[in-house]
Amino acid sequence: MPELPEVETVRRTLSQLITGKTIRDVTVSLPRIIQRPDDIEQFRLELQGHTIIDVGRRGKFLRIIMDGLVLVSHLRMEGRYGVYDSSEPVEKHTHVIFHFTDGTELRYKDVRQFGTMHLFNPGEEFKMKPLLKLGLEPLDEAFTFEAFKRVIAARKTKIKPALLNQEYVVGLGNIYVDEALFRAGIHPEKLCNELDQEELVRLYEAIVLTLSEAVEAGGSSIKSYVNGQGEMGMFQHSLQIYGRKAAPCVVCGTPVEKSVVGGRGTHYCPSCQLIQTNKTKKKH
Ligand SMILES: [Zn+2]
Repeated sequence: MPELPEVETVRRTLSQLITGKTIRDVTVSLPRIIQRPDDIEQFRLELQGHTIIDVGRRGKFLRIIMDGLVLVSHLRMEGRYGVYDSSEPVEKHTHVIFHFTDGTELRYKDVRQFGTMHLFNPGEEFKMKPLLKLGLEPLDEAFTFEAFKRVIAARKTKIKPALLNQEYVVGLGNIYVDEALFRAGIHPEKLCNELDQEELVRLYEAIVLTLSEAVEAGGSSIKSYVNGQGEMGMFQHSLQIYGRKAAPCVVCGTPVEKSVVGGRGTHYCPSCQLIQTNKTKKKH
């Protein structure tokens, strides 16, 4: 599932590929991808004639910004965008096609069919589902340590599910939560309200660094993620803990363990990420 770095990579790529293009028509072959408006014909008619100005992002959602409309799109498990010439054959599992006036097309392909699209008037998208309740953007300037502490520190839940909750901080999924907790030397099952100030600072810094580095590297490609130009991300070799079950910890050599926390497969080092605070712990 794409997390913030992957979606950000798609955003940057798409922005370069479709900004300035005008929609001539839209073909929808799987109506349930379109969550708003209810009527597919209305979706099609509303988009006709609109020009794409930019592509934004909120959490794991893309915002395709047009003159007078915003399309909010979530890729979920396997959704992918690609820009093609209209003469190119349409691949299987292509569910939505935006036909541009210049003869190219933006195609949305989704094998698992879990992706969603919502169409809004500009600004309206932040006042309704699915963007309404989203939490802090970890790569924004507004994501200060104090803001992070305010949403996390008092909670009585385990830290891993808290970090996965998009109402607190957006963009982190299973991979980058494991990476950030490892980097901060914090056990995934530690309770939020048992983290001391030093641990909260380490975790805050680890989240920002982990996501920034992954964005810089073009997003991870653990599963079937491909960016808007069909290029695979290149960060997977840099993952330090995720997917390394039984391999030696890169810091201390202890075999990496995998367990289930909050229903999700979780990788951690039993030595670097002790459940008890260990003042002599090494920093990563
Ligand atoms: Zn270790």
